[in-house]
Amino acid sequence: AAISEEEAAKTAVAAADSGATTIFDKIISKEIPSSIVYEDDEVLAFRDISPQAPAHVLVIPKNRDGLTQLGKAEERHAEVLGRLLYAAKVVAEKEGIAEGFRVVINSGPSACQSVYHLHLHVLGGRQMNWPPG
Ligand code: C5P
Repeated sequence: AAISEEEAAKTAVAAADSGATTIFDKIISKEIPSSIVYEDDEVLAFRDISPQAPAHVLVIPKNRDGLTQLGKAEERHAEVLGRLLYAAKVVAEKEGIAEGFRVVINSGPSACQSVYHLHLHVLGGRQMNWPPG
């Protein structure tokens, strides 16, 4: 029988929390090709496969190290979280949207997080609306 979206989300959370890899590990290892916008030792930024704006880039830590979702961050993650946010600004410049862009982090099933490897969405190139959906 088909499982509900809610059950699927719970399964994804539990799998990631117990150390299972996600699709992003294959993107980091370049087993799956992606359109890379920025990369350094700690951070990878690549274009979202299903863009929600003319510019839509995901910024992720290369080493997940327990950061399945922002809601599970610990104080030891503070430095990498700062690096991710700074990388988002670098990405905005590279994408030509530094004048106006949005950074989103979906944390958990009720926020529609689907991949349990923390990521920032950097969106721009069109007028954004508020409140978000
Ligand atoms: O915040 P959320 O977890 O929903 O975002 C996951 C994002 O990862 C989606 O925007 C999806 O399009 C993107 N994705 C991707 N390449 C994949 C799988 C997912 O860019 N192979």
